[in-house]
Amino acid sequence: MTQTATNSNVLTADEHLDYDVIVIGAGIAGIYQLYKLRDIGMRVRLFEAGTGVGGTWYWNRYPGARFDSESYSYGYSFSQELLDEWDWSEHFASQPEILRYLQHVANKFDLIKDMQFSSDVQSAIYRDDTRCWEIELQGGSRFRSRFLITGIGTLSQPTLPRIQGIDSFSGQSFHTSRWPHEPVSYKGKRVAVVGTGATGVQTIQEVCKDVGHLTVFQRRPNWCAPLHNSKIDPDEMKEIRAGYNEIFETCNQTNAGFLHTADSRSTFEVSEEQRHEFWEHLYASKGFGIWQGNFKDVLTDPKANEAMSNFVADKIRQRVNDPEIAEKLIPTDHGFGTRRVPLETNYYESYNRDNVELIDINKTPIKKVTSKGIVTSDREFEFDLIIYATGFDAVLGSYDRINIVGINECKLVDQWRKELSTFLGIQINNFPNLFMIMGPHALLGNNPRSIEFNVEWITDLIQHMRARNFTRAEATAEAVASWYKHVSEQGEGLLTNQVDSWMTGINSNLDGRQKRILIRYSGTQSTYRKRCNEVAESGYAALNLM
Ligand code: NAP
Repeated sequence: MTQTATNSNVLTADEHLDYDVIVIGAGIAGIYQLYKLRDIGMRVRLFEAGTGVGGTWYWNRYPGARFDSESYSYGYSFSQELLDEWDWSEHFASQPEILRYLQHVANKFDLIKDMQFSSDVQSAIYRDDTRCWEIELQGGSRFRSRFLITGIGTLSQPTLPRIQGIDSFSGQSFHTSRWPHEPVSYKGKRVAVVGTGATGVQTIQEVCKDVGHLTVFQRRPNWCAPLHNSKIDPDEMKEIRAGYNEIFETCNQTNAGFLHTADSRSTFEVSEEQRHEFWEHLYASKGFGIWQGNFKDVLTDPKANEAMSNFVADKIRQRVNDPEIAEKLIPTDHGFGTRRVPLETNYYESYNRDNVELIDINKTPIKKVTSKGIVTSDREFEFDLIIYATGFDAVLGSYDRINIVGINECKLVDQWRKELSTFLGIQINNFPNLFMIMGPHALLGNNPRSIEFNVEWITDLIQHMRARNFTRAEATAEAVASWYKHVSEQGEGLLTNQVDSWMTGINSNLDGRQKRILIRYSGTQSTYRKRCNEVAESGYAALNLM
């Protein structure tokens, strides 16, 4: 690819710009991107819709919200000083602590001064004559920058169920990710939770302790596994701190950036006794080991997956007193780990409580919401509070809500509706100078590990361009096609890609999200990083730089 600097043209000069880079989103991604760009001397402005930093951990304040990855594998790894001074209080920290951590990072590195809150980006339009992005905030203010970087999250656009009368409820009702900042009292009250994904599970097991009565409306159960959270005392924190190098090295080597990775054995290569011993060990161990650290074929071989599912089904039967309720909680339409595994603490035991009731809405569908509560096909329920843990317009929703327009008036939403394609999950053909942190077809996994990698890759590219006076970067159509092919190949044979979930782009509450699509990169972290590194090492030959 020819790489020539042609920005002698005055129109592409920097003086016409408000900033070198605009970053959208003050979550884990945006915070680190701002830090890195400022570090290399760029003029950066970060716009955030919320009133403070935190992203996912700012919005998701629902009761019970906490990490499912070990706290010390989730924090930033870039600053030794930060690692030295921050103490985690639990192996899986809760949302208030995580938010405090992110606020601490933003304050420590003096990042707030370049952030603008309550600033919802409505549109982003690329001007090829000046090689810049023009963004417009709600309220009409406009800013221009050479580059636009999105750190807008993969699960940040909430979706409410499409139920008749949903607005007519006279009590309180919230989507979990729009939980109010002020305390919500549910003590002694009649509460409903709709949805039993990772969020619903965390909410249910927490609120059931205090409510008068909890009614759970479940459409499809998920395969949940124990979190095994515990406190970290000062001595243990000392040990963790001494082991940070090893922790991050492990995360860098594993398939998806977690502390856990697939066992090298396959399920039926060991004896039945060894198999069960291993599964018992995983069931008794912390975190995602049971999902990410299982036999290597559990998520690819249907027979292995069935055996694992049977093991977990038995665990559910042992933990839930009422056999009929236990059966309702056992998934029958997908195998263990083929959807994201919610991690739980006494979730199944919640259903042994007298104040908790499980409604299978496949048998008795929700007909409507009224001012008093929820009406199903056979009953009317009255509630004081309805909690919708009904998920997100995953990966795409946060892009679709912004009017993003590239060259030749090409709208991103239309381009992706025709075919969802990107280059490395970072760049998009027809959208020069736009870089996504963990966009579609990027590796998700343990998010901060992927974020740090993506941010550093983008920063290196911008530095490369600056050193050569390049002002325009666009992934070529060939590079995008080749990435699409690679993403498709990596997704082949994975059971995860053969079931309906947000990971396959399904959302029953939205038109146009009923067909499974490849929405994320499902190869390993090392394959993903190798590809990205090769692009950088080639001098970004897959991009048109000028
Ligand atoms: P989700 O996994 O998409 O689950 C949404 C739930 O709502 C499902 O049970 C779904 O049922 C139900 N639902 C949706 N629409 C409904 C309707 N119209 N009527 C009845 N039920 C309806 O969403 P989520 O639980 O918010 O989790 C999303 C992702 O966020 C997780 O997979 C995870 O990656 C992330 N998360 C992470 C953490 C953490 O790291 N600590 C915690 C929470 C969430 P169906 O299954 O039948 O569609």
